[in-house]
Amino acid sequence: MAAKTSVIGFPRIGKNRELKFASEKYFKAEISAEELEKTAEELRAYGWKKMSEAGITFIPSNDFSFYDNMLDTAFLLGAIPERYKALGLSPLETYFAAAHGYQGGAGDVKALPMKKWFNTNYHYIVPELTDDMNITVSEDNKALSEFNEAKSLGIKTVSSVIGPYTFLHLATYTGEKKAEDFAADFVNAYVQLTKYLSAAGAEWISFAEPALVFDVTDDEKSLFVSIYKKLIAKLHSDAKIKISLQTYFGDIRDVYKEVCQLGFDAIGLDFVEGKKSFELAESSFPENTLLLAGLVNGKNIWRADYQKKNEVLAKLSEKIEKDNIVIGTSCSLLHVPYTTSSEEKLEQNILEHFAYAEEKIIELKELASGDTSAFEANKKLFTGQRVEKDESVQKALSEITEADFVRKPDFAEREKIQHEAFKLPLFPTTTIGSFPQTKEVRANRAAYKKGSITREEYVKFNQKKITECIKLQEELGLDVLVHGEFERNDMVEYFGSQLKGYIFTQNAWVQSYGTRCVKPPVIWGDVSRNKPMTVEWSVYAQSQTKKIMKGMLTGPVTILNWSFPREDISLKEQTHQIALAIREEVLDLEKNGIKIIQIDEAALREKLPLRHSDWHTEYLDWAIPAFRLVHSKVQPQTQIHTHMCYSEFNDIIRDIDAMDADVITFEASRADLKILDALKEANFRTEVGPGVYDIHSARVPSVEEITEALKKMLGKVQKEKLWVNPDCGLKTRGEEETVASLKNLVAAAKALRAEA
Ligand code: GLN
Ligand code: ZN
Repeated sequence: MAAKTSVIGFPRIGKNRELKFASEKYFKAEISAEELEKTAEELRAYGWKKMSEAGITFIPSNDFSFYDNMLDTAFLLGAIPERYKALGLSPLETYFAAAHGYQGGAGDVKALPMKKWFNTNYHYIVPELTDDMNITVSEDNKALSEFNEAKSLGIKTVSSVIGPYTFLHLATYTGEKKAEDFAADFVNAYVQLTKYLSAAGAEWISFAEPALVFDVTDDEKSLFVSIYKKLIAKLHSDAKIKISLQTYFGDIRDVYKEVCQLGFDAIGLDFVEGKKSFELAESSFPENTLLLAGLVNGKNIWRADYQKKNEVLAKLSEKIEKDNIVIGTSCSLLHVPYTTSSEEKLEQNILEHFAYAEEKIIELKELASGDTSAFEANKKLFTGQRVEKDESVQKALSEITEADFVRKPDFAEREKIQHEAFKLPLFPTTTIGSFPQTKEVRANRAAYKKGSITREEYVKFNQKKITECIKLQEELGLDVLVHGEFERNDMVEYFGSQLKGYIFTQNAWVQSYGTRCVKPPVIWGDVSRNKPMTVEWSVYAQSQTKKIMKGMLTGPVTILNWSFPREDISLKEQTHQIALAIREEVLDLEKNGIKIIQIDEAALREKLPLRHSDWHTEYLDWAIPAFRLVHSKVQPQTQIHTHMCYSEFNDIIRDIDAMDADVITFEASRADLKILDALKEANFRTEVGPGVYDIHSARVPSVEEITEALKKMLGKVQKEKLWVNPDCGLKTRGEEETVASLKNLVAAAKALRAEA
């Protein structure tokens, strides 16, 4: 008999990004809520049917979301901040107001903050818990309605809910009450939810508790244990339902013993990222409990090596009853694209090495059935060379010395030289790089890609856009200009498609946040640069203005983190290869008269290991030097900027300073400027531009609001070191709101200058 199989979550944005397009139309009031709901329903049915056809034993529901599952859970539990309810909008509108802010007839509210979801490029909405919130689940809830929806299609699902511990762990608290004070209410609410599901015929409920893979303190452990002791006892007595604990993104070494004792009916462990999962499961595992063995990598697009997976299964079955081992995904398939069948342009000998969500489901099925012909076919993929090697890249890497990681002269001296050379005003204003990507901009790129316009026409259009963009920035009075990035769709895709060693997919979209998707390129071989990638745009832009034009590149760590990496060599080696390639571009820009070069490391923080003890040894010790490798060879008067999305680097602030950039801009407005204290405390020497307004929302910040933020910053940052800029690139914004926002930004900076 075939083994049982389980899937943690399925992508939901749509094979052709249907949810993205429908949502965007809905936001523009081009379609109704019903029409949006209909698209959502079709997408859910699509995933369920795929899994059901493949015979997956445990198919998830409630993994769908219009924006984010944490936000869904907040709404499920009634944890909706008053200011959103006060708008008096429909439930769906209220939900979107919390997701991305609201400005209109009903009022003006900012979105809830957004953060990176563990070590992925997905973002979740951070729930906010207020002392007087009434935590309760109503019968009309998303988990139940999705369960029923699948049921009506004849598909039995496991409702997957973010568990109380993870929810409480990731939430913010506005009042006196802390996580433990909410615990009892949460237990009751989850019991209530489970009763509804059980009454509807659910046999299982799954609690996702990825927060267990962090370092867990003793207090946190007690909280987790006390919540689940009560929850499991109540559920086993009141609701006839089996309870599964699902963990992912690592191992749960700190709570494993307790997890085994709590009486779960199934325990899901991640055998891909969890370094200790195997050791833990082998050491002991509760009887009569299912082990959901997360063996198929939910984060990368390479095919699973069946033989290796089978070896793990065989070893596990020496200790755990075979029937109790369920073959599953390591995490939700949300983090991979839909299907390789949408890739029409990749050659078969490449594509056969890839498995996206739908192919991974087939992998589960084949692993479970032990089908010999499938195993034979799989074995062939792993014999012989899979990737493209390049000796010259390996030689260049072997020739790097310590000196390649050190920029000279030191920071303070450079700062002086640059201040004298540029003569920028106090509080120089700039933007992060991209300007609104209008329909025309996208159409121009698409037409060029399709071959329906010539390169000349394509370039001419972009040059026109650049000139307009420069004119706008000059009119606005910005100090350091950008060319606008009209040639780029996604920044990593842009570089990936030009670097040798990269493969460019056609349809491998993955959700990043809300309706925003990215298409990570694939590292298919040793990486190098064989031609300049940005020089022509930057040089053209500089020729159109007397002001300083910033060159705009993406750094090696971000390029790596937003790619699908190779699995045959280390991440460090891949990053250093990319660093050498970007270094050539930096030096080319400098040679061509570009005086300020921004090297974005938007995603640096993203892959910081989840366990503190791994931070340096497994990551920062090579990631930070990789950045220095890129810029160490430029002249002292060339100013290197970097940009990071999210200011969540209080705890790695010294490492950020050690990137040795001259200026860093980062997101701060959504994070309430908490970073400022850390900057001051660490005596941060890099000049800083903490974003003064949130670009993820269409609302226009007022001059007063920006001035207030800047004044707060000046309390903590020396005035000579403060830059003024938005949070991030403006590409997702409309033109009108961008102009209005930047106008206010410049006005605020000027007013402050006058006072200083
Ligand atoms: N320079 C990029 C832009 O402005 C940075 C994007 C990012 O940080 N994600 O779009
Ligand atoms: Zn950013």
